[in-house]
Amino acid sequence: MLQRTKGIVLKVQDYGESDQIVRLFSEQLGRISLMARGAKKTRSRLSAATEPLIEAEFLFFQGSGISSLSQADVINSHRQIRDDLLQMAYAAYWLSLIEHNIEEQEPHPALYRRLVKLLHSLEHEVDAEVLTRIWELTILEIAGYKPIFDRCVRCHRSPEQFFLSVNQGGFLCQQCRSSDHFSISLAEPVGKLLPMLQQIDITRIGKVSVKSETNKGLEIALHHLLDQNQVTPRKSWEFLQQIRKLDFKTDSES
Ligand SMILES: [Zn+2]
Repeated sequence: MLQRTKGIVLKVQDYGESDQIVRLFSEQLGRISLMARGAKKTRSRLSAATEPLIEAEFLFFQGSGISSLSQADVINSHRQIRDDLLQMAYAAYWLSLIEHNIEEQEPHPALYRRLVKLLHSLEHEVDAEVLTRIWELTILEIAGYKPIFDRCVRCHRSPEQFFLSVNQGGFLCQQCRSSDHFSISLAEPVGKLLPMLQQIDITRIGKVSVKSETNKGLEIALHHLLDQNQVTPRKSWEFLQQIRKLDFKTDSES
């Protein structure tokens, strides 16, 4: 059966002399793998679309084994991101969050469209840290760990001081914090921003500007949740941290 879907390339693996296995996050079918025969050959008409992060319209034959890619028309090569090591490290981490947390052939069309918007925002120089936190919150929800940030998880009052309990999956107020001795105290801007980021319309994100200490606080809070629930893809997360340090050094030297 011939099928057609939009998709973003997550990973490409060489297979034998001249073939490649392309792992996609597709709009209609979720995560799928396609065999791209001859894609390693420089003259292959498939090779233009078989790079991570490229969005294309894929036409493929679905049979009993792995589906076979027959045609790919590039929609967006995301060239700007792929040419920038730091931006690419962010994007690679976002893609790994999909690979790590979403089953094959589980359709998530809304998630796909959200990723497209997020990549667009990254290309238009929206704060990559803020975008990353939004994506982490989205993936937490998809993975079944949506944290409760709009009230205290125990007494349901809106907290004036914010404590995060990983075990209870959200905020605790000052009165309830003793119910979890491992809860961590959050700075007020962090406590106020988390519920906003959870509901934000990405197309309006351009107006958000966040202080670097608040960004750090958001990262620490979210990675408590992500790490404890094993949502973090370790390799790409560690790679992003290395590249960020490198970029920070280059900034301060110039
Ligand atoms: Zn409470």
